[in-house]
Amino acid sequence: MRIVLLGAPGSGKGTQAKQLVEKYSIPQISTGDLLRAAVAAGTDLGKRAKDAMDAGQLVTDDVVLGMIQERLNEPDAKNGFILDGFPRNIPQAQALDAMLARVGQPLQLSLLVDVDTEVLMKRITGRRTCGSCGAIYNIYFSPPKEPGKCDKCGGVLQHRSDDNETTVRSRLEVYEQQTAPLVSYYKAQGKLRTVKGVGGINDIFNNICDVIEAQIRPLAKAMSAAEAAEAESKAAAKPAVKPAAAPAAKPEAKKTAKKAAKKKAAKKTTKKKASKKKAAKKKTAKKKVAKKKPVKKKASKKKVAKKKAGKKQAVKKKAKKKAAKKKAAKKKVAKKKSKKKAAKKKAKKKAVKKKAAKKSKKKAAKKKTKKKAKKKKSR
Ligand code: AMP
Repeated sequence: MRIVLLGAPGSGKGTQAKQLVEKYSIPQISTGDLLRAAVAAGTDLGKRAKDAMDAGQLVTDDVVLGMIQERLNEPDAKNGFILDGFPRNIPQAQALDAMLARVGQPLQLSLLVDVDTEVLMKRITGRRTCGSCGAIYNIYFSPPKEPGKCDKCGGVLQHRSDDNETTVRSRLEVYEQQTAPLVSYYKAQGKLRTVKGVGGINDIFNNICDVIEAQIRPLAKAMSAAEAAEAESKAAAKPAVKPAAAPAAKPEAKKTAKKAAKKKAAKKTTKKKASKKKAAKKKTAKKKVAKKKPVKKKASKKKVAKKKAGKKQAVKKKAKKKAAKKKAAKKKVAKKKSKKKAAKKKAKKKAVKKKAAKKSKKKAAKKKTKKKAKKKKSR
């Protein structure tokens, strides 16, 4: 996906670009960010750019074009990109077209985020950016909880040096004079689409995504079909032997080669259609499975609940058994105790009985001796 985001400074295209990066996994390439990084690093390029930036003017094309060419050559841009803040004038747009034509990857969409000038002024002059995590705030529309402090990471909020009112005015003027003509430039190419840049960030984002889906999918299809056909015909027209050794191709041979290439291209497209159908079938099958899954999940949930209930019951049973055992053990101990008590009682009784028996024996013996003594006396 190769997109240019057009819009005046403060239109919110940078914020939208960040969301597009997440959704489509392609890099956002912002010439403003690249230039600011160069200024901060103090590179030659940064030094050359700084004055123009501080004055709200455009940095010279040669600086920007060199920088953008380098960035587009990086591996992460091979599958597409979102250009933010570039191109800024017609010569830059033409240079971009030429760059992309050289690699056979033309631009697919130029998306204008449209916002009124007054809203833009407040948006830009009120903008604050966190120096640590890059979170963006606006003191008028979305202020941080604590002034000057990032809600997310506590970092210090910074006010861009070119976000003051005088610079902003000249940046807006520059936009009107140099960048706004790009609207007609891309309209003429049939690649321009417009989205209103006011309202909720997510609503704007959804509108942008709708445009992308509507514009890029069919365009990509048409382009890939045309590219495939061209590549096929080129391949078929090429002689199989080395050019130096091969005789010049006759016009008739060329015609048949072209025909063959066309046939091949047609076959390819039918094959593609067939594979797409297959893919669509797979998708619907997957969807069906996906639909069925929740039912399964519900069933398994029930099972899990049952299992849980069973476990709970088992635990309760165990606890009951334990309690019963304890009771039984207590009873045993109580029984033993009562037996011991009874035995002690018995032993006491016996002892008492013995004592009584002894006493009565002694008494009887005493009586006998007394009787004997009386008898002796009477004799
Ligand atoms: P931006 O963050 O896109 O608003 O850019 C900030 C400043 O960087 C602009 O005011 C220009 O001075 C400079 N700049 C960014 N992109 C370009 C560009 N494509 N061509 C020239 N100057 C640029």
